[in-house]
Amino acid sequence: MPHDDHPHTVLPSDPALRVKTLETILTGKGLIDPAALDEIIDTYQNKIGPQNGARVVARAWDEPDFRAALLEDATAAVSEMGFFGRQGEHVVAVENTPERHNMVVCTLCSCYPWPLLGIPPGWYKSDAYRSRAVREPRKVLSDFGVTLSPDTAVRVWDSTAEMRYLVVPMRPDNTEGWSQDELARLVTRDSMIGTGLALRPEELE
Ligand code: FE
Repeated sequence: MPHDDHPHTVLPSDPALRVKTLETILTGKGLIDPAALDEIIDTYQNKIGPQNGARVVARAWDEPDFRAALLEDATAAVSEMGFFGRQGEHVVAVENTPERHNMVVCTLCSCYPWPLLGIPPGWYKSDAYRSRAVREPRKVLSDFGVTLSPDTAVRVWDSTAEMRYLVVPMRPDNTEGWSQDELARLVTRDSMIGTGLALRPEELE
């Protein structure tokens, strides 16, 4: 079997170079439009990111009706704010409380709520995180610098292609009267995956 134009034989080993080479091959064959590709990458890198999820969480902290709607049907609640599309078809919001801390993983691959959090971080896709999150969640949390009270149960949610989870972290103390824009600054990406907590006011720069 002729193997000359098989991608495996021409792709360099460095991932960035591989991607570039693959893009060149596919563009040359007329299979992709580089301008469209740039647009998609720009969208997910710059326009869609954790700032979207942070707005959702800040609103849930501030508006009891929205919080109830979000916990009832997150897909509808976030769509109403304009967050929907690729990799975000069915979203479930899970709320942290003093009794329960929620943490999200995709044990099979890297399913993630893109419209709310953007592109998943490298560690989310790692074998180590995917296997350890379920087996020893408290240890993983402590690796991330999170120590929970022994009275707090940890619930780990396994994402799938059909179901993506958004953790609603607990609202930090001493934030009464803050605007939603101010509150959103406390909501980190990791706090919405459950590997972190929302920032305390004194942690803001
Ligand atoms: Fe996945």
